[in-house]
Amino acid sequence: MKTQSEVVKRLEQFGVKPSLQRIAIMGYLMDNFVHPTVDTVFSGLSASIPTLSKTTVYNTLKLLARQGAVLELNIDDKNLRYDANIFRHAHFRCKQCGSVHDVPVGSFEALNVKSAGELVITESQLYYKGYCGRCKAEANKKAAEEAEEEEAANADPCRLQP
Ligand SMILES: [Zn+2]
Ligand SMILES: [Zn+2]
Repeated sequence: MKTQSEVVKRLEQFGVKPSLQRIAIMGYLMDNFVHPTVDTVFSGLSASIPTLSKTTVYNTLKLLARQGAVLELNIDDKNLRYDANIFRHAHFRCKQCGSVHDVPVGSFEALNVKSAGELVITESQLYYKGYCGRCKAEANKKAAEEAEEEEAANADPCRLQP
């Protein structure tokens, strides 16, 4: 668990006035590196802060991202994800369960062009997609089953004479 002073320090470092709700939301992100959505942050905090609204969570996360205190990721096509890890890293999203993981990328700097003519780059994100360890086993099993089914179907002579 991050201490309140560590959380306040992060907020102040990025010019965010530390209100109680902002401290709670920033603290949640600094304790939970699972790249939570607005809904996840809200349900994680609503029990301890009954007055918290989802709109406040939404607005606060937007503010934190705008100020650079957190990263806002659009790796998930349904929901924005938030990340207190603001050091440069890539992300991986599991196509099966949707979990988002940090991926250290040694040569990321090389991809991060500084200027492109008139274009001024202010952010860049690098995403990978695939299967997490837990889902990989599932996927392998499913692929094997499908291959077996296909083999069985091809072996069926009735399929050739509909
Ligand atoms: Zn997965
Ligand atoms: Zn991350």
